Amino acid sequence: MLNYGSEAQRDFYIPRICRGELVFCIGMSEPGSGSDLASVRTRADRTETGWRVNGQKIWTTNAMHGDYMIALLRTSGTSEDRHAGLSQLIIDLKAPGVTVRPITDLAGDAHFAEVFFDNVDLPADALIGNEGEGWKQVTAELAFERSGPERIYSSVVLLDAWIAHLRAVGRADSATLALVGDFTARLATLRAMSIACTARLALGESPVTEASLVKDLGTAFEQELPVAIGDDLAAHPDEAVDAELYRTLMFVTYVAPSFSLRGGTREVLRGIIARGMGLR
Ligand SMILES: Cc1cc2nc3c(=O)[nH]c(=O)nc-3n(C[C@H](O)[C@H](O)[C@H](O)COP(=O)(O)OP(=O)(O)OC[C@H]3O[C@@H](n4cnc5c(N)ncnc54)[C@H](O)[C@@H]3O)c2cc1C
Repeated sequence: MLNYGSEAQRDFYIPRICRGELVFCIGMSEPGSGSDLASVRTRADRTETGWRVNGQKIWTTNAMHGDYMIALLRTSGTSEDRHAGLSQLIIDLKAPGVTVRPITDLAGDAHFAEVFFDNVDLPADALIGNEGEGWKQVTAELAFERSGPERIYSSVVLLDAWIAHLRAVGRADSATLALVGDFTARLATLRAMSIACTARLALGESPVTEASLVKDLGTAFEQELPVAIGDDLAAHPDEAVDAELYRTLMFVTYVAPSFSLRGGTREVLRGIIARGMGLR
């Protein structure tokens, strides 16, 4: 919105988002259009007063708590037109015709939802940026999403709890210290890479390849942590393990598979990295 929104959109939404008064969710994925995002079918057709939306989004994080969705929609042509004919629009989730149905994940939480649009009328100024340039706009947006610290720190609460456990039981042999050192060095490197992407984004650049690299390496790290810490605790059966550490390990183990799905799957990111390096 900062990059492509109108002055009026920036003035209205951004201060309210920053004050925590408005919650936005991001509506890109649809059933059958996840990795293949350019095939989205949810449409916004022109009306005399603005736009009419019909279709469905899925996996929309926080849709049930959201006031608005920033949605990628087809405003002309068909899904065969791929990148052409897509636009970004702001949808008021309280508007008549919007239905939000939470989805429960493996860990029992419902943090994302399906969102249905049945003849939802939007005003003309719901469009963000230019009609037909939605693909370019979401690609730039994904560089922010993929390089942020949330792609590194999802399991860090487990790392903290495990280090607290090591201190409590007084374990400091060289193999354990090497494992702590390995995790810490990787975390520090990933953090530096994430900050380097942020610096380029702040300059108005779109480091798509670099951001994909941060997410791929970051989620690999986040997924390895629960496995390695689980193995470590199992290899030391004489140590008393606090219930909180067990709960954290169990929770992170349940949610870890989603780390390399949300925001773009591992396979898709590696394809982007390969293209960025001129390998495909
Ligand atoms: C926790 C979580 C939160 C999410 N939040 C949001 C959100 O807020 N907004 C939103 O819009 N979406 C959200 N998503 C959806 C997410 O972006 C999609 O799940 C993701 O892009 C994958 O799409 P898909 O689920 O349709 O899987 P598919 O695209 O069907 O992929 C299935 C498998 O096939 C592989 N695959 C697909 N195409 C290729 C290819 N060309 N080459 C090699 N392998 C391939 C994939 O890597 C994957 O392993 C969220 C997902 C999760 C898990």
